[in-house]
Amino acid sequence: MTTHITSHPLDAGDPLAAKRAAFDLPAGVIYLDGNSLGALPAHVPARVEEVVRTQWGTSLIRAWNTHGWVEMQRRIGDRIGRLVGAAPGQIVAGDSTSINLFKVLAAALALRPERKVILSDTGNFPTDLYMAQGLRDLLGQGHELRLVAPEEVADAIDESIAVTMITQVDYRTGRRHDMKDLTARAHAAGAIAIWDLAHSAGAFQVELDACQADFAIGCGYKYLNGGPGAPAFVYVAERHHATAVQPLAGWHGHDAPFAFDLDYRPAHGVDQMKVGTPPVLSMAALEAALEVFDDVDMTALRAKSVSLCELFIREVESRCEGLVLASPRNADQRGSQVSFRFPEGYALMQALIARGVIGDFRAPDIVRFGFTPLYVSHADVIAAVDILADILATRAWDRPEYKTRAKVT
Ligand SMILES: *Cc1c(COP(=O)(O)O)cnc(C)c1O
Repeated sequence: MTTHITSHPLDAGDPLAAKRAAFDLPAGVIYLDGNSLGALPAHVPARVEEVVRTQWGTSLIRAWNTHGWVEMQRRIGDRIGRLVGAAPGQIVAGDSTSINLFKVLAAALALRPERKVILSDTGNFPTDLYMAQGLRDLLGQGHELRLVAPEEVADAIDESIAVTMITQVDYRTGRRHDMKDLTARAHAAGAIAIWDLAHSAGAFQVELDACQADFAIGCGYKYLNGGPGAPAFVYVAERHHATAVQPLAGWHGHDAPFAFDLDYRPAHGVDQMKVGTPPVLSMAALEAALEVFDDVDMTALRAKSVSLCELFIREVESRCEGLVLASPRNADQRGSQVSFRFPEGYALMQALIARGVIGDFRAPDIVRFGFTPLYVSHADVIAAVDILADILATRAWDRPEYKTRAKVT
């Protein structure tokens, strides 16, 4: 396997260059899949071990108080809040993105009982659509999940819509919706706006409060680097705290969990989004991982992300025949990933991975490359395109072993 110790002029003066040392990345790998599973921050294993051995091992049940486990969901929520433009007290970490969507969608629909339409788009991630279908069927009140093409969302917002349920960045193409504009349109039509930040949180600065989003959810294991299956998060704008109630009425969302009342009484504020006992070890990994962002200027992060993506597009288009850009060309309309279409995309990605360039594949024909400015350099981009160009020129992808699909693509 090659090691890539080249340098690139655009890396000189990179204010985030030192951040790469904060991550454990295997030698010989160019990791362009941080949008699917973020890399391991180097200090996380020791932190998790400390939580296991000292906090769990020694403090035992006392650790809920003495080590602040009981505050973890809110504490992590506020840390994420800085990255997504949410003032403290509006986010809790926990559960999965899918589960959190169920909660906020149910809460949002209950705020608009006279309306029956959930508006989303065909570029949304399937789990979001499935959760909406499941909730619709469970409610049995005649709700409709209305799907339009991503570019038609703005015009489809009218006074029939109860809730807009939009993922800001398209998982396949990286296309980014205008949060401020769509939220304003939803409000003008009297609808509630839910945003899924799975491919946004930690990828660029999000402005939930400033855009007046009503609810949001997002993922802990993508750009936030919380580890496989990391807890997700859920945001409820403060103006809804008195009235928004989600239906998974677990004891942690009760107003007084340790009163052990027989009847459920929702907690005030965002605590009502909690359900049951959180996975403390996974929460500890996420909390530690978030420290990497503490001194990161999100404007610099975004600038580097744009620079990496633009370099990648330029290099691929000039050297890699057969690949067709699937992402918007205009950086303002993109998240932090670049996708190309290639008919044998799966085999191509397998060939790349075999040479140490890790991206992923999304059916039917998309090869997807995530650019995480914390640990990817411009030199990595050039080295990755060198390998990609070579694989295409030699048709190295055209081998049977690269065409057998694994369960996870
Ligand atoms: C990754 C992703 C999810 C993941 O949901 P899980 O419950 O963590 O499996 C949900 N929605 C979107 C838009 C995603 O990109």
